[in-house]
Order: sequence, then C-alpha cells, then structure tokens
Amino acid sequence: MAKRDYYDVLGLSKGASEADIKKAYRQMAIKYHPDKNPGNAEAEDKFKEAAEAYDILSNAEKRQRYDQFGHAGMGGGGGGYGGGNMNMDDIFSQFGDIFGSAFGGGGFGGGGFGGGNAGGRRVKGSNLRIKVKLNLEEIAFGTTKKIKVFKLVNADGVTYDTCTTCRGSGQVRRVTNTILGQMQTSSTCPTCHGAGKSIKQKPKDADEHGQKRQEEVIEINIPAGVGDGMTLNVAGKGNAGPYGGVPGDLLVQIEEEEHTSLKRDGNNLYYDLYVNFADAALGATAEIPLVKGKAQIKLDAGTQSGKILRLKGKGLPEVNGYGTGDLLVNINVWTPMRLNDEEKKLLEKLRQSPNFQPSPSGKDKSFFQRVKEMFG
Ligand SMILES: [Zn+2]
Repeated sequence: MAKRDYYDVLGLSKGASEADIKKAYRQMAIKYHPDKNPGNAEAEDKFKEAAEAYDILSNAEKRQRYDQFGHAGMGGGGGGYGGGNMNMDDIFSQFGDIFGSAFGGGGFGGGGFGGGNAGGRRVKGSNLRIKVKLNLEEIAFGTTKKIKVFKLVNADGVTYDTCTTCRGSGQVRRVTNTILGQMQTSSTCPTCHGAGKSIKQKPKDADEHGQKRQEEVIEINIPAGVGDGMTLNVAGKGNAGPYGGVPGDLLVQIEEEEHTSLKRDGNNLYYDLYVNFADAALGATAEIPLVKGKAQIKLDAGTQSGKILRLKGKGLPEVNGYGTGDLLVNINVWTPMRLNDEEKKLLEKLRQSPNFQPSPSGKDKSFFQRVKEMFG
C-alpha cells in the first residue's frame, strides 16, 4: 500500500503552521482514539497514521527532510519512515505536547507510559489481613502463632493467553474531557490487573483469574514488645499473585488482651498496690504480680499513700530490641470504711496522738513532683 502524504493524512497543506499541525492531529487523535473505537481496526490504522504524520511534521528537522525528499527521505533504504512502527506507547507519549502544556510533565505524558511495550508486569497478589489476640505474657516474651487462613492460591492446571483488553501491555489508556481540556490517563488493565495475560484454560473450581481460596496454616513469629493495634507485615505470605505474579503480604494486626491487674502504657507496666494503714505505718512486705511470676517488695515503715515504687526492667521489652520498660507500683494506703466498736476505741486513742498529725516535710514529694518523675 502506498504511503499517504503526511499533509494529506492530517488534512493540511504544505505550508501549515506548527499550531495548525497540532490542532489537526489533536482532532484526528480524538476521532480515532482506540477507546472511542473499540475493535475497529480501520480507526486504529488511522490513529497510527496520524500519529506518524504528526511525529514527522511536528519536528522541524524531520519536516524539512520530508518536504525535500518525501517518504524516501525518512528512513533507511528508501523504505519510508518505517510504516506503522510507532507503537501505542510512543503515540501516547506524544499527547504531552498535543493536549496542552497546562498539564506540564507531571502525571501526564512522560509519567505513566515509560517502559513502553515491555508487556505486562508481575502482578502482586493482594494482602491478607488477620487479627491475632495476644496476652501480656506472649507480648512480653514474644511467641509463635499458628494461624489458619483462607488465602488465594493459583489453581493447578491453569494456562494463559495474551490479554485482549490491553493486548498484553497491562495498561489501558483513556482520554477524558476535563475543564482544562483533554487529559489522558493510564490505568491498570481491569481484566488482567496489569499482568497482560488472560486465562486460556482453568479448572472448574478456579475463579476468573485462575485462583481459588484454600485453607492454609501459617506460622507467624511475633517479636516481644508488640502492642495493641500494631500491624506486622509478613512479606510474601498473603494471597498468591495471579498470572504467575508475586504473592502479597500477610498483615497481622495485634490485639492485646487486657491483663487482670497490670496496666500497660508503652513499655511500662502499672500496678495499684493497696496496703493497710498498719502495714504502711509499721512497714511490711508485699507481693507484686509480674507478667510471669511474682515479686516481693519491702515497704518501709511510714510509707505514704501515693508513693510510687519502680521495679526496673520488669516492664515490657522494646519491640526493636533496645531496652525494657519498668513496672511502677502505686502505693494506696487503704483507709478502713467500716469499723467495729473496739477498732473505733483504738483509733480514738490515736486520733490526738502527736505522731498521727500530718506534717509533710520538704522531703515528701508532692503529687506534682511524683507525676513529673513518673513521666520524666
Ligand atoms: Zn489486560
């Protein structure tokens, strides 16, 4: 087939201005755009023909050569400018010039179309999300959990073809009208999710992507020090990538069971210890629950309510392995709420006793100071 004159292709005369060339190509590109003419081979040829003409005529040097020598001047061996050698990606990359500089380089033109006709990519499987409930002991020391998941796997016996929606490129392009003019967007092919492949044959129990859901037991190592709401990313343990892609990740969300008596704040643990009035005055020993086991602590004679004892290193480890929190024991001196006659008599005797009169000294830390130290 004889090659048409580039000016004829764009409906222009030889002396057409740069602006005319742009305008003409723009109209042709919109008219014959593949998205507007799905499955229309003639439109596609016209689209490519116009793109080729524009490629030459929009370039001053190429245009000059073409004006002088015609098609013979355009390629090696007099065969013309390699008819139809422009692929769709080349064509779409032109749109950056055509559809206005308003879009600049960002997002339009150069952006999404790089890589050209490599044809599809390895599709990553979707991430799989699970929740894991842990008690404080598991959090303090780390643990291994075996979790049953239903995940997508590639079914056996699936064979592949080139995707007809995107012709193997994995991308579909669309020109949309916006208030700024026409804008071309490129997105992942909805049919093949970017793989550029379609299913040729598949077993009955596989879905349209050749996958099926299968029960699997996954072993997850949970490091010490994780916290409620934290998400661990187990790479490659999610859903299989369709069309021979790479698997997604398993996202493990941590749920922390509340401990009966230890409260957590970051890596520190808090415990409220209640001591009776006599123990606080005379001194005593008390038992403190730890994450694992117990600790004995000594209360000095004259321990005040509100005193905080710090058990260093008895909190939780940092998840990154650096350092361990403390266990802070808040002393509450218990004031009896019911008294029998004998108890009342004893306390009446003590009520006026000089040593029973509050006399906080500078040594006793104020509430403000204690809080400051706790968080400081
Ligand atoms: Zn596709």
